[in-house]
Amino acid sequence: MTDSMERSTPPTDGPTDGPTDGNPVAPTTARGPKDVVTPDLVARLTRDVIGSGRTASHTPLTGDKLADLPETTPEEVAEAFARARTAQKAWAATPVRQRAAVLLRFHDLVLARQAEVLDLIQVETGKARLHAHEEVQVVAMAARHYGRKAPAYLKPKRHSGAIPTLTKAVELRQPRGVVGQITPWNYPLELSVGDALPGLVAGNALVMKPDTETALTALWAREQLVEAGLPADVWQIVIGEGPVVGPALVEHADYVSFTGSTRTGRDVAQRAAARLIGASLELGGKNALLVLRDADLDKAADGAVRACFASAGQLCVSVERLLVDESVADAFLEKFAARTKAIRLGTVLAYGAGMGSLAGERQLETVVRHVEEAREKGATVVAGGRARPDIGPYVYEPTILDGVEAPMAVCAQETFGPVVSVYRFRDEEEAIERANDTDYGLNSSVWTKDTRRGARIAARLRSGTVNINEAYAAAYGSVQAPMGGMKDSGLSRRHGSEGILKHTEAQTVATQRLLPMAPSLGMTDETYAKFLTVSLKAMKALRMR
Ligand code: NAD
Repeated sequence: MTDSMERSTPPTDGPTDGPTDGNPVAPTTARGPKDVVTPDLVARLTRDVIGSGRTASHTPLTGDKLADLPETTPEEVAEAFARARTAQKAWAATPVRQRAAVLLRFHDLVLARQAEVLDLIQVETGKARLHAHEEVQVVAMAARHYGRKAPAYLKPKRHSGAIPTLTKAVELRQPRGVVGQITPWNYPLELSVGDALPGLVAGNALVMKPDTETALTALWAREQLVEAGLPADVWQIVIGEGPVVGPALVEHADYVSFTGSTRTGRDVAQRAAARLIGASLELGGKNALLVLRDADLDKAADGAVRACFASAGQLCVSVERLLVDESVADAFLEKFAARTKAIRLGTVLAYGAGMGSLAGERQLETVVRHVEEAREKGATVVAGGRARPDIGPYVYEPTILDGVEAPMAVCAQETFGPVVSVYRFRDEEEAIERANDTDYGLNSSVWTKDTRRGARIAARLRSGTVNINEAYAAAYGSVQAPMGGMKDSGLSRRHGSEGILKHTEAQTVATQRLLPMAPSLGMTDETYAKFLTVSLKAMKALRMR
């Protein structure tokens, strides 16, 4: 029996054991990882995976092995592409409205069967159920959006031709072919599906490599999409080590969609560049939240808790730098620290925990290293600052650091954990300068009662999304609007028109009528040149674009 099974008791109301001065613990339930991931489920979800090897995934809830999985060799990646390439032709020939209808049915299936996938996300990532539900929400939003809007995004567009009335120019959007997608473990449903749906509805096939530790969630999503009407071979999932299977995927893809760390993203970008294929890269962040003097401090403190500790801070858009106007810093910090210390920690497969576990050993090691180094170099731990093995092997308390300075790793490097540093600023200029003083540029959050001022500041922040009076969900959930990173946080965007058009190649088809674009009707070259010169001047005078 594992530690977590020993802890499994019927739900209780109050906090359970653990340090008396630490974060409280959420009540536990009788269900554990083995109740969710059965051998039958694994066999069902993995039956289409091409993979002659064997590998395994683990659950951070206990640290134990979760599932035996097939492992795909680089040669088998080629086979997956071959299958996808064959299937793509018929899929691309399917009318776009029919393809879009698959997304709308998928939307309904995900909402109806959310309990299944919430369990899976929790056992694979360790996150709290409420944070797992964010994935369901944004996937439903993306499915609805592209299910409804794809035909409009993809429809042929008429442009004014070279010579009015004589030249007709139409822009078509052709699918790229087979997209290779590589995804991380932190939002396994949203990050496998969110960028896949627009690619698929645009007429592409997909070969995806999820992180092995969270492959079951991606496989579950594929199963729903196939039930919703996607031809099974159109979406292939391959499983294996990133440095082995990842490059093999880039080697065969017509376009690459990568989400993960900046370090791996650079490698993927170089491989894609060598093959002259496009790539979208959604990478890391060191996001800032600004509390202005006129902010509602209670709302800002609640928002900061969501911003810093959702999914235990393992969220690309989560906040690791809190910039607070010095005149309200003490009052804000008091409210924020009180809320942070009250977060109920837990690995329970039900709603009730305010924060769950880190995803594994590597994340815990980084968090401990960053906090301990900061502490040794003089930073103050305002809240948290320690692991909680009494709750789970990789649980770490939500942590606030004050007095962090430049040489400390936590100051500039992405921790990707529940650790935030507080900095004070004198005025708006300093706030903007400090917020932009990072290699990254993914997300920012600004808290002020004056939303016009917030919007003015937002326009000067070098980050792909800015949330005013919200942490990250307002921008991320606005799926009609582009989402992605500036600077080292990435290239290209997901969501909205950019999120679907990047999966297509523009093709212009121009039809010439009556006269050729060359001397004709007995004109000399010189007469033709003069005629065109006069025509060009007339077109400008007539304000033609
Ligand atoms: P990672 O870069 O280590 O791994 C991401 C994926 O790439 C995994 O599937 C991994 O197996 C694969 N991979 C590893 N080496 C590879 C290689 N050489 N070639 C091709 N693929 C390879 O990242 P991670 O630690 O799994 O994820 C956390 C990071 O992802 C954080 O930096 C986070 O900010 C970022 N992230 C960004 C976004 C976004 O939208 N911008 C979203 C989620 C996570």
